[in-house]
Amino acid sequence: MENIEQLRNKIDDITLQMLRLLKERTDAARQIGELKKSSGLGVTDEAREEQLRREVSGLCAKIGLDDSLGRKFLNFLLNESVKVQSEGKQTHLTVFLKAKALEQQGRKIIHMEVGEPDFMPPHIAKDGFAEAFDRGLVRYGPAAGMPQLRAALAEYVTKNFGADAKQENILVSPGGRFAVYLAVNTLLNPGDEVIVIEPAWPAYRECAINAGVKVRTIPTTLESGWEPSIQQIEQTINSNTKMIILNYPNNPTGKVLPPGLQDQIVGLAQKNDLYVLSDEIYSLYAYSEWKSVLANKYAKSIIVQSFSKSHAMTGFRIGYTVADQKIVEKMSKLQALCVTCVAEPIQYAALKALDADLSENRRAMRAKLDIVVSEAKRIGLDFAIPDGAMYVFARPKKQGFDGLEFIGRLLERGVAVAPGEGFGNYKSFLRISVAQDEKSLIDGMKILHEVLEESR
Ligand code: PMP
Repeated sequence: MENIEQLRNKIDDITLQMLRLLKERTDAARQIGELKKSSGLGVTDEAREEQLRREVSGLCAKIGLDDSLGRKFLNFLLNESVKVQSEGKQTHLTVFLKAKALEQQGRKIIHMEVGEPDFMPPHIAKDGFAEAFDRGLVRYGPAAGMPQLRAALAEYVTKNFGADAKQENILVSPGGRFAVYLAVNTLLNPGDEVIVIEPAWPAYRECAINAGVKVRTIPTTLESGWEPSIQQIEQTINSNTKMIILNYPNNPTGKVLPPGLQDQIVGLAQKNDLYVLSDEIYSLYAYSEWKSVLANKYAKSIIVQSFSKSHAMTGFRIGYTVADQKIVEKMSKLQALCVTCVAEPIQYAALKALDADLSENRRAMRAKLDIVVSEAKRIGLDFAIPDGAMYVFARPKKQGFDGLEFIGRLLERGVAVAPGEGFGNYKSFLRISVAQDEKSLIDGMKILHEVLEESR
């Protein structure tokens, strides 16, 4: 017994010592964060992390500790550093909240920071609400969604996206955002790694960090047309890598991957037994050849879709996932725990909305994109013409341009745009959302030009 006591004391000492060291490490990480901020550097430094990873593997080999465990522990530490260094980071949501506060004070703001179609949802969705009420669809329902809607969605994705889906493969959730949350939280464990190609919608990173999952970034550049390199992805994969996230048409760049490259990435995932989470919520607004990952018929793929952008139903909060039945069941259990199910009248309205003709939405968004593209060219911004989605991700030509400082001044003049730093290490970029009426787009771009000229 004495021996157990001694060993327990030893464990207690080591644990407390580790906590003291964790505090010291976190303080140092915070200081590094301040230095990075003042010299305009981003939070993520993959090369530096890789160097530390190699050192950890070397030590594991030397002392006989399982390499995967060592790297998982390192991932926990790295995530803590990312958290302290990301405090105060500006995203499209922070700008949106500031813009809303200004509106409350009676100021007029042109919203080019949020991705929300300005047109109305299909009228049949409204009729669906009334019908749902009359039919008594006002109760709790199955967590994965109303059977009728799941069946209709299975048919819809089979017809439109080259899937081979049945009702069991569909999970109806409150928005694509929650589907991403469910996938990350049910399929991954703390210490696992997920590959995110940047620039990327910030929620992937935030969901992963919240779940204790390490994000491995594949940065892409304007110069390479926002295309990721397959070699770089391959080199990033290790025994802890469990998922790769794709989002094409992409928010914020509007990039659509050439189908061959997308197939190569899915093939690489298959070879390494990784999940592929493909967020395809902008698929209606793909204006170059686009292919759903569903067409690859890969068992470990999770496709996220939504009524938000295609049907302009952002406020309904309804999206869906297409995946293997086992994955749907896992995600559905967590959904039941968190929200029970999506509200039945909303599900019924979505069911009705599935019959809507979306060609006008598609045409209208293209026209808006064309306006902003031509204005951005006229002003002389640097950008790749988007293949789809509803944004222009652009950089003024000025050397050392500070996106955040500019966005603050632009907001003072009544125009809100999103900072590039919300999407990764892209401080000199702005994301301009085109989801506004034509006049606001032209006025907004004119003001943007004036504010740029003032800072020359
Ligand atoms: N994915 C991407 C890439 C997005 O840009 C958004 C919203 N801006 C979402 C998912 C979430 O959409 P929702 O939750 O409204 O379906």
